[in-house]
Amino acid sequence: VTVVDLLARLVAAGSENPPGDERAVAAITAEALGDGGLEARTVFGHEHRPNVVGTLARGPGPRLVLQAHMDTKPRGDAADATWDHDPLTLTERDGLLFGLGACDAKGALAAMLSAAARLAAHGHWSGTLEVHGAADEEDGSQHGAALAHRLGLTRADAAIVGEPTGCRRSSAQLGNAWARVLMTGRAAHAGTPAAGRDAVWAAHAFMSAVRARLAGLPADPRFPGHPRLNVGSIRGGLLPGTLPGSCELLCDIRVLPGQRRGDLHRIYRDAARRVAAEAGVDCSVEPFQGGGCEAHQIAPGSRIESAFLAAAGRLGAGPEPEYFLGGSDARFYARAGTPTLVFGPGDLRVAHAPNEYVPRADLERAVDLLEHTALAFFAAAPETPPGAGDR
Ligand SMILES: [Zn+2]
Repeated sequence: VTVVDLLARLVAAGSENPPGDERAVAAITAEALGDGGLEARTVFGHEHRPNVVGTLARGPGPRLVLQAHMDTKPRGDAADATWDHDPLTLTERDGLLFGLGACDAKGALAAMLSAAARLAAHGHWSGTLEVHGAADEEDGSQHGAALAHRLGLTRADAAIVGEPTGCRRSSAQLGNAWARVLMTGRAAHAGTPAAGRDAVWAAHAFMSAVRARLAGLPADPRFPGHPRLNVGSIRGGLLPGTLPGSCELLCDIRVLPGQRRGDLHRIYRDAARRVAAEAGVDCSVEPFQGGGCEAHQIAPGSRIESAFLAAAGRLGAGPEPEYFLGGSDARFYARAGTPTLVFGPGDLRVAHAPNEYVPRADLERAVDLLEHTALAFFAAAPETPPGAGDR
């Protein structure tokens, strides 16, 4: 089975989320793991939301996890679903493989399954390789990586989480600090402002205060434009002639590696206290949807990053890093203390949109890079020349 054939089967097993049902794609994942020589088991959360774990235990040595999510974003509604062909039929044009999830992240999943099969056929390494096919990444991971984390499956000596990075390694990722801020003043006639307490001007003062604090924090050239306050939603007031009595802000500050999410939540609270005192409004701050997640990065010189660079050198791939700007399940592995890279074929900019694709050459290079990274990680010599086939 070539990696392209495998990708075609994974794409055909639609797994749009929401609504979320990974049963068909999980069956193919488990079958591919079994055919490749790994021991596959299925871990259920909800009955429609299986997660697959494939294991290849080869004596003493470190444990490496390759993880990719099995679900995709929905194909879009009729109005914006301008697919040139059936999104569940992998279609090749000019070396590009089009299909729903081909880029995000079934290409990475297919590459991991192919690389695992090659590693199973390779006799000279020692350690444990695990492949995790995860449910529910596109809608919060509660049925997927969060479950794996609760079950203790995210703890390993290293992990590679599959997302489209153009086959470069991403060793650092932004977190986010999400807050709901509610200003409560007093509505009044706009002609008699002294009779009220203006919640919208208080919100403006809050935004300015947070922004001023962020300007004093260190920047990070890897993540241009951050730290930055993003007010993703602002709702307040009623009509032009009324002094607005309330205003709600939904705020996001991306957390740079090295920063703590809690420190940014403290900036929200400090600004709220100041504005409450100065503007005479009530200003409450609460975490929004759990308050976000921490940033993470790999320590320089870590074994997995060195292994990746050794493999890239061996295969003539560039050493340039990439900083993945989407969300990913890597945060759950990082939370367990596992040094985690994000890596996969394809470009994030074509994901979550009609006519998503992964270049065939990228997909095939991903298999080589994963195989050789694992071998270098397990400190084994390569057995076959690069690109010697899909298995
Ligand atoms: Zn993804």
